[in-house]
Amino acid sequence: MVKQEHQLSNQAGGMKREPTPSGSAGLPRTVTILGATGSIGRSTLDLIGREPERYRVVALTANGNAGQLAELALQHRAELAVVADPAAYAELKAALAGSATKAAAGEAAVREAAGVRVDWTMAAIVGAAGLVPTLEAVRRGGRLALANKECLVAAGDLFMRACAQSRVELLPVDSEHSAAFQALAGAAPEAIESITLTASGGPFRSWSLAELGQATPEQALRHPNWSMGAKITIDSATMMNKGLELIEAYHLFPVTPDQLRVVVHPQSIVHCLVAYRDGSVLAQLSEPDMRTPIALSLAWPGRMAAPTRRLDLVALGSLTFEAPDEVRFRSLAVARAALEAGSTACALLNAANEIAVGAFLQQRIGFLDIVGVVEAVLGDGECTRLPQSQASIEDVLATDALGRRLADARLRHCGASGKR
Ligand code: NAD
Ligand code: MG
Repeated sequence: MVKQEHQLSNQAGGMKREPTPSGSAGLPRTVTILGATGSIGRSTLDLIGREPERYRVVALTANGNAGQLAELALQHRAELAVVADPAAYAELKAALAGSATKAAAGEAAVREAAGVRVDWTMAAIVGAAGLVPTLEAVRRGGRLALANKECLVAAGDLFMRACAQSRVELLPVDSEHSAAFQALAGAAPEAIESITLTASGGPFRSWSLAELGQATPEQALRHPNWSMGAKITIDSATMMNKGLELIEAYHLFPVTPDQLRVVVHPQSIVHCLVAYRDGSVLAQLSEPDMRTPIALSLAWPGRMAAPTRRLDLVALGSLTFEAPDEVRFRSLAVARAALEAGSTACALLNAANEIAVGAFLQQRIGFLDIVGVVEAVLGDGECTRLPQSQASIEDVLATDALGRRLADARLRHCGASGKR
């Protein structure tokens, strides 16, 4: 695919950092959180709540959990709270009655909230559902902390082009990408030899293929190191998460696909390693707690305190590394092939994976069927005939819809190995 380069603000010759209006005047930074009720959203609000004089919450959005959203909005004195699901509006409105927080509902209202001018936005909706509102935040400009990796998987070229056009300051939040962002500071692209993302290996790192075939949602949701939303936890168990992150890294950083590596590191302490041409390797280490990368994005270009466990190397004793097994965890190879094929394949991969993960969580298909569904969609004649690049958001949304429809149809073929 034709790669759109948008220089991140930590890159040599990158964008001049323009102080945000309120930040520069010592006033609180205004912030909006898309996906405020999720794991990343709540961790972000946890940090904001510890320094209320530095941040002012403008808008919080969620899908349908009106009760939790209202609670967060009242606690953080948000100006606006928005649920994507119109059916949740009445509950939200009632819960906010008598407060200064306005309530709104519907997809258009989420998008509008994303477009309200603020200094900093956290994009933490899960899945391609976050694409349209996050692109709205991109167009509006300012700083964008990006956790919603599916935006880059489904529409990386388009997304990065929009970032370059609006000169948005893009700050990666995914722990590996936040680590790379730090280890790459100031590097010229030609100085970089490779970027290695680490993967915990998830709860099934040492399971056989036969055991994986029997894995249940309950077992897959028990991640050994990280506490996260359901979709990314399943993605970690299949290792599709690392596949999505390869595509994410490709778009964020000035590297080719063959410069991107993955190594399994069960302790999740080293998050990413950047190797330079002179043999030097820079890595970022921290305890596995998303509040560290979120804090980096929130305080950027400064640093803020995060109440995370401190790294104690002596107590840890050893850190281990192993090669990923792409026979048991085929998702990694499937995602790499999609990256090589182009942006249409990446959008299809993301859509099919979202449907398959949802079906696995509902116990409609087995664990190994997840990657099976994704492969079947990518190999479907209707998909292989599509042009490999996505020119517009309409193209991306049509490809996403096709991927979902074909994946849905495919679920029926998984009956035998699923349903228990
Ligand atoms: P989550 O499921 O805990 O939260 C998702 C949020 O998105 C919720 O607020 C939910 O209400 C909202 N949402 C869901 N569907 C929506 C829709 N259709 N319209 C509008 N809002 C919707 O997810 P999470 O674990 O916080 O992950 C969020 C994103 O961050 C994902 O893209 C994930 O891959 C990425 N990420 C998460 C972690 C982590 O530790 N949780 C780490 C790295 C990256
Ligand atoms: Mg990650």
